[in-house]
Amino acid sequence: MNSDISDRILSVNQQIDSACAQAGRPRDSVQLLAVSKTRSADEVRSAVNQGLTHFGENYLQEALDKIEALSDLALEWHFIGPIQSNKTRPIAEHFDWVHSVDRLKIGQRLSDQRPDGKPPLNICLQVNISREESKSGCSPDEAPALARALGELPGIRLRGLMAIPAATDDPDTQHRAFADLRRLLDAIRVDLPELDTLSMGMSADLVPAIEEGATIVRVGTALFGPRAAKTEPKPE
Ligand SMILES: *Cc1c(COP(=O)(O)O)cnc(C)c1O
Repeated sequence: MNSDISDRILSVNQQIDSACAQAGRPRDSVQLLAVSKTRSADEVRSAVNQGLTHFGENYLQEALDKIEALSDLALEWHFIGPIQSNKTRPIAEHFDWVHSVDRLKIGQRLSDQRPDGKPPLNICLQVNISREESKSGCSPDEAPALARALGELPGIRLRGLMAIPAATDDPDTQHRAFADLRRLLDAIRVDLPELDTLSMGMSADLVPAIEEGATIVRVGTALFGPRAAKTEPKPE
């Protein structure tokens, strides 16, 4: 089982290496975020033993239990799931990054609730880049004004944009959505040049995402194997 995960980590790292080489980008310009939702604390510990340090979680209670169980390790925790406004406090207290901020109210609450003495919480603005009905994320048109407003909040540090494009196997469509997000970040950077993050690309499309400029790829299945869908808890 340890050798399974080490083989998978090796293979994902090889994909990242070759996508970076292909795109003429330095390898250290892309961070691998291991998406550990539904995985046990022991599975995360094995992944840490294989060199992974950055973990992404979607379900708040499950994540808090894991963060507690693994508090002996120096890990970076990223919240990447949908956020209810009455659940922001534990997120502000226990995470290093939040990728799924899609409205000002959530940003304000995270900023207000970030404990004194911790550095500002790193934030990505989630954008519904494929303009899908009933999908999380602000619309691309709202993103520039929202980014400016989030950029002024003292308890958070806006780092860039995140998206989950519409699922497709077509490489051209994959590239187009990622390029749209990159162009949107470029446009916002005219006002906010400090933004440095594009969180895009998952197990099935991390290579085109890196070719279009991803700085964080969020990878679950390709590292840990298929998730048992039935046992997945509801989003919080
Ligand atoms: C589950 C999830 C991922 C990882 O998906 P895989 O296809 O398993 O790599 C990435 N980002 C978000 C927001 C997720 O919810």
